Amino acid sequence: MVLVLKTVPDGHGLSVEPAAALPSLAGASRDDLLEAFAQLGVLEKQRRMRVAQLWSWIYARGVVSFDEMSDVSKDLRSELAGAYSLERPEIVSEQVSQDGTRKWLMRLPKREHDAQGPEVETVYIPESDRGTLCISSQVGCTLTCTFCHTGTQKLVRNLTHAEIVGQILLARDRIGDWPGANAPDDGGRLPNSDRKITNIVLMGMGEPLYNFDNVCEAMKIAADSGGLAHSRRRITLSTSGVVPEIARWGKEAGTMLAISLHAVRDELRDILVPINRKYPIKDLLDACRSYPGLSNARRITFEYVMLKGVNDSLADARALVRLLAGIPAKINLIPFNAWPGAEYECSEWEQIERFAEIVNKAGYASPVRTPRGRDILAACGQLKSASVKLRASERAVVPTASGEDAGAN
Ligand code: SAH
Ligand code: SF4
Repeated sequence: MVLVLKTVPDGHGLSVEPAAALPSLAGASRDDLLEAFAQLGVLEKQRRMRVAQLWSWIYARGVVSFDEMSDVSKDLRSELAGAYSLERPEIVSEQVSQDGTRKWLMRLPKREHDAQGPEVETVYIPESDRGTLCISSQVGCTLTCTFCHTGTQKLVRNLTHAEIVGQILLARDRIGDWPGANAPDDGGRLPNSDRKITNIVLMGMGEPLYNFDNVCEAMKIAADSGGLAHSRRRITLSTSGVVPEIARWGKEAGTMLAISLHAVRDELRDILVPINRKYPIKDLLDACRSYPGLSNARRITFEYVMLKGVNDSLADARALVRLLAGIPAKINLIPFNAWPGAEYECSEWEQIERFAEIVNKAGYASPVRTPRGRDILAACGQLKSASVKLRASERAVVPTASGEDAGAN
């Protein structure tokens, strides 16, 4: 059973184009707020203090109105409210799976060159002792991994840091994960922990290392103790293997790392994860070996999707173990999640167990990732939104002051 809690019109038909909205400061970095205060004419020497106040209201308490910011003067609150909002992305639909998994389709505000506000998906997976939020980094993906639904959607655009953080804010609103907030009224299953989102994984739509700067800035806001205060050890970036960016990510963001390995031979990985033709397995594993801060307590997760008759032989399992020797690693076996038109099938359950046994015997904890939210297409690799990228010739032509066409470049 799929419980659709809320579905709002998709912008076609009856709904009217909303009046131009004020820019939102939900998702703002410290620099964004410094800039906003400068625009409002706040004295330079006061700006840093104001930024700390606003961050605390936005990220520690989750307020959605400037009115609630009781330690900010009334005048400044009304100036803020005149120029900005704290709006979250719009919810197009919210689905709750039988197993408590929630999936939101969100519409982001329209930016230059967008045909309409692009749509992205965010998924929340509650377990008894933890809650994992899976967020998107791009609308669509430039890569075309053959088993992945997102890979069939061309890249529409990169998400901004504020849009990436906005997914976390919206999820926290919807599951009542703010101090003093109420749980959702459908009473959905939530973990038995103080915070309902304990882990963040960059495993939604897109290749996060191809949107490095925005994802990095967003994770700084997520991990900052004055921001959303998530531990970096509980934030995991998953990459298909953008080798040159892995070391930089380790140095600048320092989160946990997951690698979408999926094959132990280049000939097969070239097909399943085509970026392998550019950065083959050996280069990828070298980058993993040099990832900063690795230890038995801080391991890299290797994701391995189980595709029937393709990569699931016991010889593959043994080769996998040999390949990862010497790297502090966890192996995550992911049953393939089917999607309409997919050319693969999920391995038989007994085969997954036999495969897992070899991996376990070699000393790797290899949890088989229990598929979650399959009934609402919220599982790994099933995410795809209807957003498409407009060709330059289709983009709105925005006249500039000088009369030039600014829309088609
Ligand atoms: N682009 C990044 C992160 C997003 S994909 C990456 O590729 O790592 C998140 C994970 O889901 C990846 O390991 C990906 O390989 C896996 N995945 C994609 N499609 C899947 C499917 N249909 N079934 C199971 N896992 C899938
Ligand atoms: Fe893109 Fe990751 Fe899907 Fe590959 S698996 S197409 S990199 S989202």
